[in-house]
Amino acid sequence: MKTKKQFQSPKGTFDILPEDQKYWEKVRKVVARVALGYGFERIDTPIIEDADIYALAGGETADVVEKQMYVFKSKGGDMLALRPEGTAGVMRAFLEHGMAQLPQPVKLYYIAPMFRYEQPQAGRYRQHHQAGFEIIGDQDPVYDAQLIHMYLVVGEELGLKSLSIEINSIGCAKCRPTYRAQLLRYYRSRTAKLCKDCKRRIKKNPLRLLDCKEEKCEQMRVNAPNLIDHLCQECHDHFKNVLEYLDETGVPYVLNPHLVRGFDYYTKTVFEVFLEDEHIEGGNEKTHQRAKLALGGGGRYDYLAKTLGGRETPGVGAGLGMERLIGVMKKQGIKAPPLYKPEVFLVQLGVLSKKKSLRLFEELRKAGIVVAEAFGKDSIKAQLRSADRLGVKMSLILGQKEAIDGVILLREMETGAQESVEMEKVVKVIKERLKK
Ligand SMILES: [Zn+2]
Ligand SMILES: [Zn+2]
Repeated sequence: MKTKKQFQSPKGTFDILPEDQKYWEKVRKVVARVALGYGFERIDTPIIEDADIYALAGGETADVVEKQMYVFKSKGGDMLALRPEGTAGVMRAFLEHGMAQLPQPVKLYYIAPMFRYEQPQAGRYRQHHQAGFEIIGDQDPVYDAQLIHMYLVVGEELGLKSLSIEINSIGCAKCRPTYRAQLLRYYRSRTAKLCKDCKRRIKKNPLRLLDCKEEKCEQMRVNAPNLIDHLCQECHDHFKNVLEYLDETGVPYVLNPHLVRGFDYYTKTVFEVFLEDEHIEGGNEKTHQRAKLALGGGGRYDYLAKTLGGRETPGVGAGLGMERLIGVMKKQGIKAPPLYKPEVFLVQLGVLSKKKSLRLFEELRKAGIVVAEAFGKDSIKAQLRSADRLGVKMSLILGQKEAIDGVILLREMETGAQESVEMEKVVKVIKERLKK
């Protein structure tokens, strides 16, 4: 097939280029370190899952399931979905591998790509990456608080400024129906003023009306009844405990009675983490609302296991959007150490020395010295230019004569001073010089 097409990455996706990898590596390292520090072990689940998992987990009205999921039929006839979020797949793995037999709770973390078919806009992609933490098998509110605390720890270790937490409880199967009825009563007389999506949501899941980002819907919810006033005793106590544990660990939080999450499987605690952004203008001073950017969120999902056909198993999880996190790091001027930093450059001149250079290169590399080369170049000038550009401390120059004599020229790049070193001793000499 011939084409004149100029290919580009699919709409809403992007390449992570070498110059950006250092930020990714830094976040991955911090996430892994924090996760391990709190007793989380890594899990990787497939990018594809049985589409039914998300249909069951999300419920009929979750936007992601309704219109944002990549679903396709495999050649074998299975309906598969590209993972839109991490929790459901991890719970599937938990059930499939009988992790309920392990000491509970089981703490798992992952960093993985997620897929959502939505209109690309700033900070929203069709393929994005999430760092996720799941604590499965324990309903103690202390774990809700621990996850929220971990957000701050990750933020701190990355050097991020001004993170804030918003938190709410969305109750349980006992208290939600009563609240739902109240909410319906409130909205029923006002249906005409709702947006199109909300008119549909009100029939299936009125709770999602609180979540709508349309201005007219936002205005209307100001006087809507709050779930927090209608929690059953158990949910009330649970939430109270979460907040007390947060106070204990010094996590600053704000109660947001309108916070609900996009998936139906959430119960009790839901939360989001924001960056209070001084750089964005337009915050409304009257309500003390500053411009803020959501970095992630999560919540408790005590019904998810049962929804997926397993035994009732409580759980709580949190996710962080990697792209946003990295965007914020760059904006706040947070540095990440370079991943490739050669220390020595190996210059070769002539056929024999090029051959000998190959072996020396291996010796240096095995000794743990980061060595760069330009084996494809023949001129010494061009090679030394490359060495300069890389900012190496030393160059090793192997000419035809040196190759025959079994020596090599060592050049200090800063001073330009050169000396002859015996080939056998060169690794040792370089190592000593690099220590200085
Ligand atoms: Zn309840
Ligand atoms: Zn709406």
